[in-house]
Amino acid sequence: MARVRTVHGTAVSPGLSIGPVHVVRAKADAVPTWSVSEGDVAAEIERLKAAVVSASEELGRRQKLVALQSSEREAQIFAVHRMILQDPGAVRDVEATIRTERINAETAVNNLIQRLERTLRGMEGNSVRSYSADLADPWRDVLAALMHVGDGKLITTVGKVIVAAATLTPQVVTAIERERLLGVVAEAGGRFSHAAVLARAFGVPCVVGLPGLLGRLEQGMTITLDGGRGTVELRPDDEQISAFNERRSRLAERRQALAEQAAAPARTPDGADLGVLVNVESLHDLDIFDLGLTDGVGLLRTEFLYMERPQFPSEDEQYRMYRRVVERMAPRPVTLRTLDIGGDKRLPYFQTPKEENPALGWRGLRVSLEWQDLLRVQLRAALRAGCGYDLRLMLPMVSSLEEVFATRRIFDGVRASLLEQGWEVDRDVPVGIMVEVPSILFCIDEILKHVDFLSVGTNDLVQYLLAVDRDNPWVSKLYEPQHPAVLRALALVGDAARRAGKPCSVCGDMADDPAIALLLLGMGYTSVSVAPYFLPEIKFAVRKTTIVQARALVVEALAQTSVEGVKQVLNACRDRLHSV
Ligand code: PEP
Ligand code: MG
Repeated sequence: MARVRTVHGTAVSPGLSIGPVHVVRAKADAVPTWSVSEGDVAAEIERLKAAVVSASEELGRRQKLVALQSSEREAQIFAVHRMILQDPGAVRDVEATIRTERINAETAVNNLIQRLERTLRGMEGNSVRSYSADLADPWRDVLAALMHVGDGKLITTVGKVIVAAATLTPQVVTAIERERLLGVVAEAGGRFSHAAVLARAFGVPCVVGLPGLLGRLEQGMTITLDGGRGTVELRPDDEQISAFNERRSRLAERRQALAEQAAAPARTPDGADLGVLVNVESLHDLDIFDLGLTDGVGLLRTEFLYMERPQFPSEDEQYRMYRRVVERMAPRPVTLRTLDIGGDKRLPYFQTPKEENPALGWRGLRVSLEWQDLLRVQLRAALRAGCGYDLRLMLPMVSSLEEVFATRRIFDGVRASLLEQGWEVDRDVPVGIMVEVPSILFCIDEILKHVDFLSVGTNDLVQYLLAVDRDNPWVSKLYEPQHPAVLRALALVGDAARRAGKPCSVCGDMADDPAIALLLLGMGYTSVSVAPYFLPEIKFAVRKTTIVQARALVVEALAQTSVEGVKQVLNACRDRLHSV
């Protein structure tokens, strides 16, 4: 019987791709396994040897450190570990496994560790056992070195590839230049994780939730990827390739037709407008994007600009970055979100504590309010860059009114000191907050008295409302933006903003679904902000729907008490949009 070659996973970022796969050795909890072709065996053995050298060097460093901080005697254990790695017998053993079984070095080393551990379990006596444990330990260092080799570095292979990894992380999505990245597949990952956000921002098809995939891949083998349906075909035959290419050209035609109409505003036939803005993660986005299509930048994720650098950007560097964005977008607005690090968004040069529960930890505005100098430098740069432009400031992860007051005080101080130093600064710079923490829902009217606008960060709001970590693949099935509670929270925010007469947007990724965008329009939201890829579809949907229909959709959706019920209502809307 032929092996099933189409595998089904979770759709993360839409689009169709075909090309050679490249498995990245990204850091992951599980040891990734893949097959190595005959021609790649020598390179795999070289990789093993490099990892042995790197692990030995690391052991040497640890030996010196322990000798310095403790005693030579305690440091001796690392010398023993290094000697174990110098034993040519064990290295030859692992080499032979790679050659005969044609598997990657990680798996071959892991097999050796397991063999050593089995031997250990069968031994009598504590001292023999601990010696045996020492035999396996240095190989764990080699395994760690292997799994970090290439982590975060660019893939050096030539040509365009579909990147495959054990876990979807920001490093995986950025493991190769964007021009060469055809798509991303991963055994595990969250649909609304930051890595997923990046894949959508890049307009790169991505599928996750494919357990055991890496074991079925070989470096360089052809696969197809359907990021909308969440499917991957392994080694497609000629017939599958031509059917796939046909679908790809039909999709390209539809997108082209939509793009041609996308410059017109998103106005319903009965005259209601929805602003459609874009989320920007990198200055590079500005160069490749057709600005005529958007109403502005609804979310500038400044932390990604920090991540692209080897150290904190200075005030002048930040000034230049922000200035480039406002100049390029003028006269459209740019909503600059202050630094939002924490969780899986880390700065390599900024040591943050290792937390048990990072989603509930030291992140977003909490960091800025504790390290106020960071915030001050960012605000100075932003206010200088935005002078004379439509710049708005937005605060991430706000959980109380006090935090708004504290940030306002810092903002006023920064503004006053800039004026004192002779800088020109705009008189009224709107300051808004992201609605991401559920506590805000219950003091929304008071908050609205003290901010100029709201933008709902549904990626985080859903995780906190449903208590489902957006980055944890074990619970990704429970992460459900179409939950009735999420819809009710959105309606509550939209209502409050309308009553207060303040602009209100959604910049979380659920707004990239045209049916959701219509729902938000019906709820009174004034805009949505999405990755550029989704903009033409959303504008099309708004032009094909009256505000009366959008409000009726809200009534019907809010009457549902189950995820299934909400899905049925929204699917009927999606079907209607496909048929017009
Ligand atoms: C969100 O949480 O929805 C959001 C837009 O912010 P981020 O995805 O950067 O956390
Ligand atoms: Mg967020």
